[in-house]
Amino acid sequence: NAPHPLPTTTRVIAVVNQKGGVGKTTSAVNLAASLVRAGARAMVIDLDPQGNASTALGIPHHADVVSTYDVLVDETPLAEAVQPSQDSEALSGVPSTIHLAGADLELAPLERREFRLRAALEQYLAAQDEPVHYVFIDCPPSLGLLTINAFTAATEVLLPIQCEYYALEGVTQLLDTIQRITQHLNPALSLSTVLLTMYDGRTLLSKQVVDEVRAHFGDVALQTIIPRTVRISEAPGFGQTVLAYDPNSPGALAYREAAAEIAQRGAA
Ligand code: ADP
Ligand code: MG
Repeated sequence: NAPHPLPTTTRVIAVVNQKGGVGKTTSAVNLAASLVRAGARAMVIDLDPQGNASTALGIPHHADVVSTYDVLVDETPLAEAVQPSQDSEALSGVPSTIHLAGADLELAPLERREFRLRAALEQYLAAQDEPVHYVFIDCPPSLGLLTINAFTAATEVLLPIQCEYYALEGVTQLLDTIQRITQHLNPALSLSTVLLTMYDGRTLLSKQVVDEVRAHFGDVALQTIIPRTVRISEAPGFGQTVLAYDPNSPGALAYREAAAEIAQRGAA
């Protein structure tokens, strides 16, 4: 429970994998909650129309809520969409609503369509009295305009990889996309972190995926691996992070360890 070193400027981390169900939302929410428990202030921006991050943070996201849709499409100030989470005073969230499902098409003709989240976030962060140390952007399972808005707003990409069949499928396309973003839209962006998720120590397959990912990504992959546990999957049903739901469970401890690694790397 030792406090982590805090970054001097906000670390904006896009949690991306164009595959669904690999642990993007679970990781965004539980890493943010872990960092908060070690002394940071954090925010999660929900960019997935499914609103799973909003659910896990206990933040309402029915159709009438001011959300990331309004921020991106109507330039509503981010401050009007930010809400406190149920998890902790130091963890806030920006909900998404079902309106976001059509946002890719609505954004397409708009001015500076790739930079709308970045503009909103910069304005919001500049107006805060207290620093926000970490912003996690929970992306939808695609590489469309919503994810591109996350890529331009962020300086880091965190890639969750599920310890399952076809773990590395699509990774080449993702890396190519990141490269194009750094060339044309955001030179500051890099893949800083790979996090292995849903590890099942009883299966040979899980071990093989760990080896394959370590061979492919080296030190970009965190040492900590997130185990597959029922507690992690139960927590969102209670509008909670696993840190609040069962703080001493193996899943909660794994996310805290992963968060500590992320904090240490930022300090280095
Ligand atoms: P994504 O955001 O990439 O679609 P999620 O984070 O929503 O993926 O995870 C997909 C599903 O797997 C969810 O039902 C979630 O609760 C479950 N899940 C994620 N991580 C774990 C884990 N470590 N152990 C068990 N279930 C998990
Ligand atoms: Mg998700």
